[in-house]
Amino acid sequence: MKILLPTSTAGSLPKPSWLAKPKTLWSPWQLQGNQLIEGKQDALRLALDDQDRAGIDIVSDGEQTRQHFVTTFIEHLSGVDFENRQTVKIRNRYEASVPSVVGAVTREKPVFVEDVRFLRTLTHKPIKWALPGPMTMIDTLYDAHYKSREKLAWEFAKILNQEAKELVAAGVDIIQFDEPAFNVFFNEVNDWGIATLERAIEGLECETAVHICYGYGIKANIDWKNALGNEWRQYEEIFPKLQKSSIDLISLECQNSRVPMDLIELVRGKKVMVGAIDVASNTIETPEKVADLLRRSLQFVDVDKLYPCTNCGMAPLSRDVARSKLNALGAGVEIVRRELSA
Ligand SMILES: [Zn+2]
Repeated sequence: MKILLPTSTAGSLPKPSWLAKPKTLWSPWQLQGNQLIEGKQDALRLALDDQDRAGIDIVSDGEQTRQHFVTTFIEHLSGVDFENRQTVKIRNRYEASVPSVVGAVTREKPVFVEDVRFLRTLTHKPIKWALPGPMTMIDTLYDAHYKSREKLAWEFAKILNQEAKELVAAGVDIIQFDEPAFNVFFNEVNDWGIATLERAIEGLECETAVHICYGYGIKANIDWKNALGNEWRQYEEIFPKLQKSSIDLISLECQNSRVPMDLIELVRGKKVMVGAIDVASNTIETPEKVADLLRRSLQFVDVDKLYPCTNCGMAPLSRDVARSKLNALGAGVEIVRRELSA
C-alpha cells in the first residue's frame, strides 16, 4: 500500500433491514430466490458506498451475502449435516445449536467467488476478504466424524486454501482469516492452530491477515470480557509464534479494550491492523479519540506498518451507528496523516 495508514474494517457491516432482521446474529433472510440474489448485491453496493464515503482505503463486502461469518462458509461444504444439530459451547462461552460433521468434509464448489467477482466490478480499491479460520470453524461445529479437533482443523485448512486461491484469482488483494478462537485456546493455537493457518495460506499470491479479537459486542462476549480482569493479556500467549509465521497482517482489538498496547511489540515486523473503533458500544468515537489511539500505537508499530481498523465486525450494530463509526475512523486517521506529513 502506498497510502499512509491505510484504513479498513475487520469485516462485517450491518445489513439493510429489508435483507435481514437488524441487530441479530444468524438473522434469516427476508427475501428469496432471485430477489435474494439481487438484494444481496444491492446491499453489497451500499456497504461499499458507506466505506467509500468514510474514506476507507481497503474495502470489503461487509459480509452482506453471509448470514454468519462461520456458518455460511460451512453450509457450502459436504460432510456437514445442518439438520442434525447439537448444542455446543462456543469458545467456552455461550451455547449454540450447531450443525454436525457426519462425514469427510469437502468443498465441491467455490463459496464466495461470484461475490468477489461482483465486488471487483464495483471498485478499483484493494479488496480484503474475510474467511473463518480453521480453529474457529471447528469450534462452531459438533464433530461426530473425525472426533479430533486437530484433524478437522487440518481438513478445513486444506479447503480454505482452495477457496482462498480462487478468491485471489477473482480479484482479492488480502485474504483475512478470522480466528477469535485464538484468544481462548492458547495451547492448541501454539500446538497446531498457527500451523493449520499456515496451511490455509500456502501458495497464496496475495497478502494474508489474521483477525484475533474479543468478539462481537454481544452479551456473552461482554460478560466474558468483564471476567478477564484489568489487563487482557491473551495476545501475549500467541503473538510470539505468530510473529514467526508467514502471515503478513495481524488484526487486534485496542479501542476501549484492556489490552496493554505494548503487546503489539511482540509482533514487531508485521503489519498491524490496530482496532481503533469499539464495536461493543453505540457511542461514536470522536476523530480525536481515534487519532489519540493511533498516535499511541505508533510507539509499538512502524508507521508504514500501521493499518487502522475496527476492533471487530460491526454486524450487530445499527447501520447509523456503524456508518458514524466508519466516518470517525476515516476522520481520525486523517488527523494523524496530516501530523505525520507536516
Ligand atoms: Zn472479530
